[in-house]
Amino acid sequence: MGSHQNSAGADQPEPASRMTSSRARATTSEEWLDILGPDRAAILRAKGTEPPFSGDLLHMRDDGIYRCAGCDAELFSSGSKYDSGTGWPSFHSPVDAASVEEHVDYSHGLVRTEVTCSTCGGHLGHVFDGEGPDGAKRYCINSLSLRFLASS
Ligand SMILES: [Zn+2]
Repeated sequence: MGSHQNSAGADQPEPASRMTSSRARATTSEEWLDILGPDRAAILRAKGTEPPFSGDLLHMRDDGIYRCAGCDAELFSSGSKYDSGTGWPSFHSPVDAASVEEHVDYSHGLVRTEVTCSTCGGHLGHVFDGEGPDGAKRYCINSLSLRFLASS
């Protein structure tokens, strides 16, 4: 007796996979700030609004897909983008109805409809009924909430 070797570490947990996206695991505002940087975090996580005519994607006309800057989900396609003259990128519809969620927003003494990413919950902007082309909706979206991926 006494010669039995101790099987050390039998119950050690698996190391966290490096393949797991940090975006998918971010839950605190500190983590989001780390991932997004202050400008994007102020919009996506703190529901801010970028100044009109300030966004990089306002005048984007290339063909492609606008993805969520928080989680990379596909949100809008270039085919639904139009110039609304409001100073924010505007779309008449999302790439898929399920890709965004709408919530009534009573902030700033107004009744508006907030649009969020249905995947990560990030704030995207607001949607206005009947303000789009031919009476369509106008999705008024912050450039900072989006990343544009051109189709080659
Ligand atoms: Zn998202």
